[in-house]
Amino acid sequence: MKLLVLAGDGIGPEITAATLAVLRAADARFGLGLTLDEAAIGHAGLQAHGHTIHPDIVEAARRADGVVLGPTATFEFKDPARGEVNPSMRLRKSLDLFANIRPARTYAGFPLRCGEFDLVVARENTEGFYADRNMEEGSGEMLVTKDVAISLRRITRVCSERIARAAFELAQRRRKRVTIVHKANVLKVTEGLFIEECRKVAREFPEVVVDDVIVDAMMAHVVRHPQRFDVIVTTNMYGDILSDLTAELAGSLGLAASLNAGAQHAMAQAAHGSAPDIAGKDVANPLSLILSAAMLLGWLGVRKKQKNYEDAAKAIDKAVEQAIAAKEATVDVGGRLGTRATGEAVAKRLA
Ligand code: ATP
Repeated sequence: MKLLVLAGDGIGPEITAATLAVLRAADARFGLGLTLDEAAIGHAGLQAHGHTIHPDIVEAARRADGVVLGPTATFEFKDPARGEVNPSMRLRKSLDLFANIRPARTYAGFPLRCGEFDLVVARENTEGFYADRNMEEGSGEMLVTKDVAISLRRITRVCSERIARAAFELAQRRRKRVTIVHKANVLKVTEGLFIEECRKVAREFPEVVVDDVIVDAMMAHVVRHPQRFDVIVTTNMYGDILSDLTAELAGSLGLAASLNAGAQHAMAQAAHGSAPDIAGKDVANPLSLILSAAMLLGWLGVRKKQKNYEDAAKAIDKAVEQAIAAKEATVDVGGRLGTRATGEAVAKRLA
């Protein structure tokens, strides 16, 4: 199968190189028959061809079996007329990657912040307050006068229904519990519609226990007692914020893996940003992207009925677990290695 690999900015090239080392080791051991094609995006893309993500790269992503996307300097890309768009947004929108699945679990080997836990945030990925993807044309943010700015948030039944379905299907394979996170006490219409769709889908999954929690209270609940949660389903922005918190509670943002999945395509992407403060220092934790790549292999395994892909995904998870326990990982998760050596350590365990 063909994977398109896009390294990105900041720590992107370093964590992507480490991830490629692990993918090659997985390929060798499980006979995956992977072709790993690379293309320049972000600042490297601007320099090479004047686009943070060239339209040809979007088409290549469409043709590939999956995408591995490194973080990009999104904040610095402001002017679409100069080829500056957020590559992650462009891919999520073009490939209709509506479910952003962000697991957070603890590992043995370094001090736990809130005890052991294992949960997943299922975040809607294609609308909400994200002005760059919730409009057919134009932006969902407007400067009305130079002192007045407005953002529009779009919530639709179809997008709410499909993320709810993804969450319930996931919960059915896990501990059979879904928590709907919302702010329906204030945003009664939009959040009300979201809850309504989640509750409708819930009726098709009678064995899954459902509750709902207001997003502000959720911040306290998840810090106090993350063990209470299994799958959390929520709208775009709450999911984005909440999943950074849950990743950090699990140990480090450097463990924040995610998969962007749609009906036809999937893309592995660490949940954190390009971390310019630590770029180029060989200290960034690559496990976020390595674990994201494992999620992609697992998704491909199920979708294309290739058991060796599912086995490879499980083996990568196991190798990461063992590497952390042996302190063969970066400092943020209690290890003593750099980015490259962490990738090599996981690859070696796989081999
Ligand atoms: P961006 O603008 O691209 O979102 P950012 O620095 O504002 O970048 P993040 O990249 O998410 O936001 O980083 C937030 C904090 O977490 C930073 O201090 C960063 O160093 C740390 N961090 C993020 N990713 C990792 C990682 N893989 N390993 C270690 N620390 C990380």
